[in-house]
Amino acid sequence: AKKEGPGVSRSYTPEMDKKLRERRSMRRELASAIERGELVVFYQPQAEIAGKITGFEALLRWRHPTRGWVSPGTFIPLAEESRLIVPIGEWVLREVCREAASWPLPLGVAVNLSPVQFQHSDLPGLIRSILLETGLASNQLELEITEGVLMDDSGRIASILREVKALGVRIAMDDFGSGYSSLSYLQSFPFDKIKIDRTFVTKIEDNPQSAAIVRAVLGLAHGLRLPVLAEGVETEEELAFLAREGCDHVQGYYIGRPLPIAEYAGVVGRI
Ligand code: C2E
Ligand code: CA
Ligand code: CA
Ligand code: CA
Repeated sequence: AKKEGPGVSRSYTPEMDKKLRERRSMRRELASAIERGELVVFYQPQAEIAGKITGFEALLRWRHPTRGWVSPGTFIPLAEESRLIVPIGEWVLREVCREAASWPLPLGVAVNLSPVQFQHSDLPGLIRSILLETGLASNQLELEITEGVLMDDSGRIASILREVKALGVRIAMDDFGSGYSSLSYLQSFPFDKIKIDRTFVTKIEDNPQSAAIVRAVLGLAHGLRLPVLAEGVETEEELAFLAREGCDHVQGYYIGRPLPIAEYAGVVGRI
């Protein structure tokens, strides 16, 4: 580790040095993860409140040769900083569309998009060619975007989203209520669905504030005629609360965990 001196923050520790080197090597390894076949897509069911599974959210995993399973919470930020998220995001989109096109049942599939993917590529063109190439019906595909996307040049983003929607693809507002989601986003951008963030759902029973926020989001979204999906549903009690309040769709460990698609063979109609 370095000696302390002028320009070196007092809070700098050998511990941080190690973390920094760790992140650098992980970033290097991530660059070759696609070609090495280390990226894996898991699928988590999404259901109507009454129980019928309508589709899945695609959630990326990194099967690292020595580190084991690395969570997207760790490597997505690294991929965004280094812009590796552009090729990785393209790989995910292609992989997921190819997979969903092979299902006997025409279930929906939702893919997360990073803000960085909007800055870079011709996103509508990419989506259009992947749909053509894989043969997936556009109405089976949904894209989940967070407010991070909308905070950029809003006119440009709105027009990209309109182009994507013109293909027949749906757009969901992800993690609603967390971060700085502004109510005006709901008016300025053409969403088809609102996803309530897991942090509010987890505390529904024991935190009156969370319950109030969930109720308010449901009222607001329904006022705008937008269906709502609650994420992170882990218990029967949470599901019952959401049903009582008129939530439309749910997702969470109580319904099903993110797993390799083979584990859901029966659901997609392969059995
Ligand atoms: P997210 O989009 O909010 O996804 C939901 C997260 O909640 C997932 O974490 C999921 O595994 C977890 N989850 C679902 N149900 C439950 C539950 O009942 N209880 C608990 N405790 N957790 C639940 P995961 O898979 O670790 O992904 C974390 C984040 O990484 C995602 O949050 C998303 O922002 C990002 N991410 C994942 N895959 C991709 C991807 O392909 N592209 C991009 N850009 N981001 C991705
Ligand atoms: Ca999501
Ligand atoms: Ca979330
Ligand atoms: Ca709870």
